[in-house]
Amino acid sequence: MVSTPTTVAASGRQYLPVSTDNPASPNQSLLPLTAGVNRQDHLEIGGCDVVELVQRFGTPLYVLDEETLRTACRQYRQAFQQYYPGESLVIYASKAWNCLAVCAIVASEGLGIDVVSGGELYTALQAGMSAETMYFHGNNKSVEELTMAIETGCTIVVDNWLELQTLVGLAAEQPIRIMLRLTPGIECHTHEYIRTGHLDSKFGFDPVQLDRVFEFVSQHPQLDCVGLHAHIGSQIFELQAHQDLTGVMVQWLGKAAHYGLSIRELDIGGGLGIRYTESDDPPSIAAWAKVICEGIVTACQSQNLALPKLIAEPGRSLIGPACVTAYKIGNQKEVPGIRTYVTVDGGMSDNPRPITYQSVYRSVIANRMSAPLTQTVSVAGKHCESGDIVIKQADLPATEAGDVLVVMTTGAYNYSMASNYNRLPRPAAVLVNQGEASLILQRETYLDLVRQDCLPERLKSHG
Ligand SMILES: *Cc1c(COP(=O)(O)O)cnc(C)c1O
Repeated sequence: MVSTPTTVAASGRQYLPVSTDNPASPNQSLLPLTAGVNRQDHLEIGGCDVVELVQRFGTPLYVLDEETLRTACRQYRQAFQQYYPGESLVIYASKAWNCLAVCAIVASEGLGIDVVSGGELYTALQAGMSAETMYFHGNNKSVEELTMAIETGCTIVVDNWLELQTLVGLAAEQPIRIMLRLTPGIECHTHEYIRTGHLDSKFGFDPVQLDRVFEFVSQHPQLDCVGLHAHIGSQIFELQAHQDLTGVMVQWLGKAAHYGLSIRELDIGGGLGIRYTESDDPPSIAAWAKVICEGIVTACQSQNLALPKLIAEPGRSLIGPACVTAYKIGNQKEVPGIRTYVTVDGGMSDNPRPITYQSVYRSVIANRMSAPLTQTVSVAGKHCESGDIVIKQADLPATEAGDVLVVMTTGAYNYSMASNYNRLPRPAAVLVNQGEASLILQRETYLDLVRQDCLPERLKSHG
């Protein structure tokens, strides 16, 4: 029943995945792997008609495809098992989208998790994730967060001197399991705000301090330093940067040995890019993993070092392609000779990436999938910001109020960065799988919006 829409293909763009029998790497697909068009000419994801989902759950609506997320998890795990002769662990960088259901799915696929706040840690614990595969990141963890991490028993990825000293003070009989986050001094080509591996970064210890840090740790038995960590940035397409990183990290490993530290784990971070538009051409999950595994193995052999446990922590490439956001179209404004604005019932509050990083997205009209694309418009959000444009140039068929506009690849850093700007309640999210849709995030209500508000007595019942 599900077919590829000819008009979309005729426009020279192939949004729909070709087949799910032999799934491509999800990060190379614009739509979730289960996407298709049904007899009503509606977009279908996970066997669910997106137009029906919208009628049932309202808009804006995040639609998360379980199969795409699970496929990405499996591809990561299988690739590391295939290409790395030592032990490996894939952990989900949950800041991309942290909620109970997503944590439960990645845990059931055998992934660990990285968290960057007490709130993310709390959610992962509530989802039943176990502390042994939990890594706590952050460049300014509070004492409360560090205490919570110690009590939980997760590994703390130490970012700076203050944190090292605080941890020494907090340690009880049990040494605290830590990793050290180091800045590798590697430049990569991505947006300035999501670049983290260059020297001028707020994250991690500077490499010139390496000796001092290793010396400090070796003198403090309260700290059990099990690993070294680096993360060079996000939405990266070239493999070279990660290949370079493997060499740098194995050098650190050799240096740590001089201080008597027995480092057992190397965590090479995340960062693999995904396809937001047809011009994005990221390497596959397997290709990325292969370069990293081979890089570590080669560097360890040449330095005569035992293979560490290899950890990777992807976020965007696991969850990004698995989700779309459905909106209802409302007002349309034509500025003669300039452009047409097609306005949707959400925007920067459910997807702040365009206004933050000038991110580019693609969209389809879910209730008329095979309609010919006849106009290029700007899809505008409903917020009081001129910059609240979801898509600057969207090729769409003729549109009318009530149409369902679906923006693709919105799984990563959309819900997790969502806000209540203009007091919009945050959207609901549904998990779709084999024709079933389950609510995983309830739509916020107006009551939710005032739940934390306090009205001092003297302001009450004026008027
Ligand atoms: C954000 C982040 C990741 C994940 O990055 P992606 O580009 O989403 O894969 C991994 N590790 C750390 C420390 C991060 O801050």
